[in-house]
Amino acid sequence: MTGTSAAVLLALLIVLGALTGAVIGSFAGVVRSRGWRGALRGRSHCVGCHRTLRWHELVPIASYAVQGGRCRVCRAEIGREALVVELAGAAAGVLVTLGVVGLALLLAG
Ligand SMILES: [Zn+2]
Repeated sequence: MTGTSAAVLLALLIVLGALTGAVIGSFAGVVRSRGWRGALRGRSHCVGCHRTLRWHELVPIASYAVQGGRCRVCRAEIGREALVVELAGAAAGVLVTLGVVGLALLLAG
């Protein structure tokens, strides 16, 4: 493997780790606010207008950024906590990825 393809592979793994971490962080945020049963049952809704959120309003970090932290319809505030949990999940995903890659390189000698 060339240096360039190794760097591209590492970058892809880091992005994948960040995305996975953000999704896990997002789910953890839902469990925190609605409990395990609530998180596994029913779709997410706006606390302002009680409208069920569409898939594109549920993309971790990106939806918050695109909508400016507010409901797309009633403009109710989403709450920064959701974003913080998703960002923390993404950061944890990157750290885990780097740890796993580092360990794999160490074991490979
Ligand atoms: Zn709303």
